[in-house]
Amino acid sequence: MAKVLVCVAWPYANSPIHLGHVAGSLLPPDLFSRYRRLRGDEVLMVSGSDQHGTPITVRAEKEKVTPLEVAERYHEINKKAIEDLDIEFSLFTKTHTENHFRVVSDVFLDLLQKGCLYEKSTLQYYCPSCQKFLPDRYVEGICPACGNEKARGDQCERCGKTFEGGELKEAKCVHCITVPELRETKHHFIKLSAFQERLIDWVKDKQHWRPSVQLFTQNWLEAGLEDRPITRDMEWGVPVPLPGQDGKVIYVWFDAVIGYLSASMEWAQRSGDPDAWKAYWTDPQVRSYYFLGKDNIPFHTIIWPAILMGRGGLNLPYDVPANEFLTFKGDKVSKSRGTTIDIPSLLKRYEPDIIRYYVAANMPENKDADFSWEDFEAKINNELVATLGNYYHRVLSFTYKHFGEVPEFKGASEDREEMMSAIREARDAAEDALDGCHFKRALKTIMDLAQFGNRHFDSVGPWALIKKDREQCGSALYLHLMLVKALAVLSSPYLPRSSERAWKFLGQVGTLQQAGWSAVEAELPAHQKLNEPKPLFSKIEVEKNEGDSVFGGFETLNLKAGRILKARDHPNADSLLLLEVDIGKTIQVVAGLKAYYTKEEMEGREVVVVSNLKPAKLRGEQSQGMLLAADAGEIVKLVSPPSGSRPGDAVSSGLKQSDRVIEFKDFQKLILRVAEVSGDHLDVGRAVKAKGPTELKGRKVVVYLPSEDAEEALVLSSERGPVTVDDAMPGGATVR
Ligand SMILES: [Zn+2]
Ligand SMILES: [Zn+2]
Repeated sequence: MAKVLVCVAWPYANSPIHLGHVAGSLLPPDLFSRYRRLRGDEVLMVSGSDQHGTPITVRAEKEKVTPLEVAERYHEINKKAIEDLDIEFSLFTKTHTENHFRVVSDVFLDLLQKGCLYEKSTLQYYCPSCQKFLPDRYVEGICPACGNEKARGDQCERCGKTFEGGELKEAKCVHCITVPELRETKHHFIKLSAFQERLIDWVKDKQHWRPSVQLFTQNWLEAGLEDRPITRDMEWGVPVPLPGQDGKVIYVWFDAVIGYLSASMEWAQRSGDPDAWKAYWTDPQVRSYYFLGKDNIPFHTIIWPAILMGRGGLNLPYDVPANEFLTFKGDKVSKSRGTTIDIPSLLKRYEPDIIRYYVAANMPENKDADFSWEDFEAKINNELVATLGNYYHRVLSFTYKHFGEVPEFKGASEDREEMMSAIREARDAAEDALDGCHFKRALKTIMDLAQFGNRHFDSVGPWALIKKDREQCGSALYLHLMLVKALAVLSSPYLPRSSERAWKFLGQVGTLQQAGWSAVEAELPAHQKLNEPKPLFSKIEVEKNEGDSVFGGFETLNLKAGRILKARDHPNADSLLLLEVDIGKTIQVVAGLKAYYTKEEMEGREVVVVSNLKPAKLRGEQSQGMLLAADAGEIVKLVSPPSGSRPGDAVSSGLKQSDRVIEFKDFQKLILRVAEVSGDHLDVGRAVKAKGPTELKGRKVVVYLPSEDAEEALVLSSERGPVTVDDAMPGGATVR
């Protein structure tokens, strides 16, 4: 029995987790931990919500709520989603806790005292119009390395390059698109350069790392490590634990990696033995595994090891099995269904084992994998149901019907050896793959074994054999029950619920989890009573046309997120404005909003644009689209796209979008309303059911109603969340 530490990258608490998180970093550690626990090892698996940093504050500002509110809301949503997906953490905590603040401050002060940190002046982006420093996501520009036009102030998400102030090309403040200036400010830096040689030495024997992880790390080390700032000018986060540092907090990446340690300590405290964490962190025999997506590699193979080296006395990572990305390029259908890939929505429709199987079978271990609903349906129906589920049910139901118990084996020892060696070979291959964190390969081995079972069952032909020779048939079925048991154990890290059910059908005492991995080979006692089996999986049908009938009208629209670049007066009409709007391309829009917004308020504002209206000339000026605005008589307010949208993003509510041009009179027939989110329903002046995201309780969103008396409303949304409108707008107000 060994102890194992499993650390899982902390998801940001700024949106519900979706399939990408599960494939990238959440399911792999659970597969690994479940496997190791079955083998009898003691696993400490920790993570939590990353509640700090600019992803949280940007969202909070857009929603006009506190960062704490956003951080707590999504922590609760994600914690529940993770539990419901049967991902078993020893502790899934959060970073905004007293314990975490204390541990981060301790590490900071310790490193400072040991000379690993120093303070220096640096140049940071500063927005003269917002009058504040612009950390990380508050700045966007062009990556000097790869040309990505949406690179953030501190890192390019496309190529992984990190930068300090001034390196981005064409940098803009995300609030007001003002070009920021560089201002001097003081920050604490970690002396990464001092760890260069030790890190090079440390990675030398990491031949077991995935090639992509080795390469990424090698490239960083070869480029030479530069000292990095670990503090930021903002209010939200762990305050710098030194006097005279008001308005500065610890940079989120430094704060979050320390979370592995603070969460382990919190777990120990909760377990009643406050020192219990030490066995996992200080015994050099204990291996620690870090599971994360590829964008996080340098933080776990360079920076976190450097922090640990600086502090001393704690284990460095043993393996960092980073995954590539699950992408959502797919075909049109999958793209337009983006809203339903978040885990809370998926769990409303599919059993956790179904989702776990799909993600494991399509896991982006060595290259990006793409998601599509067709593939989802195919993998579940053709593999899980047709191969594994079918095999279980054929064996269990036939044996139950004709024997009702485990038959005695009285057959030839060669027959027995054939079956047992197939089981042992698969087990050895699965162990080899799981030990090395090759989860897709292990699953393939298990599914191949199920396929072998199906073929073997066919060749035995028990339905004919039972009539000829009941004893011989019983012996054959005994071997197949052994195979069913072996499959249940081997697949249980992936399919914990259905494996336990198969275990029960076999009439086994206790749980599979208690029996452990060695149960793969254990004998089944003859005459043990079987329980009546039910099919473990049934075919799924992705509802391709779900929206067409009810919300078909909405599909005549093509809505896009946009940003107003410029506003000026219409030369021929006092009440009109001429707007330049970026919707992935720049269009001109004539808008009658002059009574409600100044030009300054308009510029930089994010909007939702009807992009497929037939272009029209309004008082001599071309208008190529329309901005959605809510109208309650005296108050008129522009509606806002989902938080975090980029110009050009589709606002499709998970349905198809029209590529056909429509007339203004067609648009006028559609019923769009302001709705207040209240519990699971919506208030549009009356209560209606909601289709779409409803997590923004108490907020105002925009819905499509198929008819004035419709019972269900479609929330305008993208995969980032719902379209919102100023809370002053009453539910039921018209949107036009
Ligand atoms: Zn600004
Ligand atoms: Zn780049």
